Amino acid sequence: MDYLLHMQSPSTFLALAAMLLSSLLILAPSSQLHAAPLRVLLIDGQNNHDWKSSSPWIKRILEETKLFIVDVATTPPKGGDMSSFNPDLSPYQVLVSNYNGEPWSKQFELAFEAFVREGGGFVPVHAADNAFPAWPQYNEMIGVGGWNDRNEKSGPWVYWDKKIVRDTSPGRGGSHGKQHEFKVVHREPDHPIVKGLPSGWMHAKDELYDRLRGPAVRMTVLATAFADVSTGGTGRHEPMLMALTFGKGRIFHTALGHNNGPDLTAQYCIGFITTLQRGVEWAATGQVTQKPPTDFPMPEKSSLRKP
Ligand code: ZN
Repeated sequence: MDYLLHMQSPSTFLALAAMLLSSLLILAPSSQLHAAPLRVLLIDGQNNHDWKSSSPWIKRILEETKLFIVDVATTPPKGGDMSSFNPDLSPYQVLVSNYNGEPWSKQFELAFEAFVREGGGFVPVHAADNAFPAWPQYNEMIGVGGWNDRNEKSGPWVYWDKKIVRDTSPGRGGSHGKQHEFKVVHREPDHPIVKGLPSGWMHAKDELYDRLRGPAVRMTVLATAFADVSTGGTGRHEPMLMALTFGKGRIFHTALGHNNGPDLTAQYCIGFITTLQRGVEWAATGQVTQKPPTDFPMPEKSSLRKP
């Protein structure tokens, strides 16, 4: 090598170095360079919330980043033949769930598990963490969930009391007080999903999920909100944003985003929008390339982006 370098002129050496660099760039995984949009499959079709209004909004706020192309897979309605729902997951980097309904077929459950285990991303939104109380692997993916007979058998309650507490006391999984604006506080400010954002921000009027419980393994609580007793809450700092892993896959779980009818105030919150956009990118690639928006909510003032 010494001999070769001595024999080459400096300009030839630079040309060789440039060739080497460009070949390395070609070899780099496209996910790191975002050469192509990331492909997202948004799953809906049953929910105790107005998924017909929220799914188009979720698709829109993801696609406005120019990072994602979102397809939607809609299950049969309640009572329908779920064996017909088996979308091909292979084109996608990340699945987003706006689904809270009847169990999927065993075939699709296994395909979904394999997708995440093998490195695909998954993002459950709000009531998606109510779904599938009897599917152990799904509950491992979401970390904590609520309702549908969840209790101490589902796993500990998880909340923040100077550190994350896993509380195995008996009691129901999932409740909420009345809807109100509340402050979201980041607990892992260096995590890529929240890094660079204000560490506390006022969320628009939403349901504040509390008493969530589940396996809570391989789960990092990124943000909490205080469920004040005066609004019907637990008096605890409850987990709102979570990052998890399952096999090689990454999961971003947002408990935010209640909607009932076409009013999507909680999902118009720029804090909801930004953390969802960033969480979907992180779940897909392990990185976040998006810059914080200039209209992000302030610690004492919420900020909405309406259609
Ligand atoms: Zn809700």
